[in-house]
Amino acid sequence: MIKLLQISDCHIDDQALAMGVDTQTNLAKVVKKISNQKFEALLISGDLSNSGSLYSYKRLKEILLPIQQPTYVFGGNHDNIDQLTKEFSDNLFNHITLGKWGLITIDSVQLHKTSGLVTEEALETLNQTLKNSTADYIMVALHHPIVSMNSSWNDELSLENPQDLFRILNKHSKIRCVIFGHAHEAAHFYHEKFDIISCPSTALQFTQETRIGFNEYHLYNNGKINWTTQWI
Ligand SMILES: [Zn+2]
Repeated sequence: MIKLLQISDCHIDDQALAMGVDTQTNLAKVVKKISNQKFEALLISGDLSNSGSLYSYKRLKEILLPIQQPTYVFGGNHDNIDQLTKEFSDNLFNHITLGKWGLITIDSVQLHKTSGLVTEEALETLNQTLKNSTADYIMVALHHPIVSMNSSWNDELSLENPQDLFRILNKHSKIRCVIFGHAHEAAHFYHEKFDIISCPSTALQFTQETRIGFNEYHLYNNGKINWTTQWI
C-alpha cells in the first residue's frame, strides 16, 4: 500500500497574512502534523503562493523543510510558474510512479484568470501520457474542480471545459481517481468510473469550515483506494 498525502492552496505570501489569515503559521501546523506521520509522497496541488513572488516560494521551502519524503508540486492560478520553477524545479512533474500506481498531472491554469482551461494541446499530452503509462492504476491531479461543487463555491471559477477533459478520462479504464484543490473545500463526488475528490486548503476554507486540512490517500496494490481528510 502506498500512502500519499495531498496539501493544497497554501497561499504563502510576502507577509504572514494573506486572505486575512496567517497562511505561513497555518501551513507550519500542517507540516508539523504530517512530518510525524509515515507516508511515501507528498503532493501540493497548486496555489502554493498567494502573490507568485520568489520570496514566497523561498519561504514555502523553509516551512516544508521538516518533510523528508519526495514532494511533488504543480501550479495554480495564483502561482507564477517562472518563480515557482526557480525554487521547485526538482519537484515539478508530469507523471510519476508510486508502486503499481501512476500519478499524472494536467495543467489547467490560464494566465491572469481564476478559472481553468485544459487546452487541446494539454488534452493530447494527457491522452498520450495515459496511453504510455505502464502503471496498473492511475490517479490524475489538477488544480481546478472538474465538477460542480454543489456548495457556495462559484462553479464559474472552476474548469471551463470539463466535458473535453471527461472525453479523454472516460477512454482510460486505469483511472481510479481525479483529485484537485482551488475550491478550498473537502468534498467527494461520484462518477461511474472513478472517484473525484476535492482537497481542503492549508490556509482557510471558503465554506463554514473553520479548520485547515489535507487529504490522505491509501493506494492499494489491487487498485482500491481509501481516503480521509485530516483536520487541524
Ligand atoms: Zn486556485
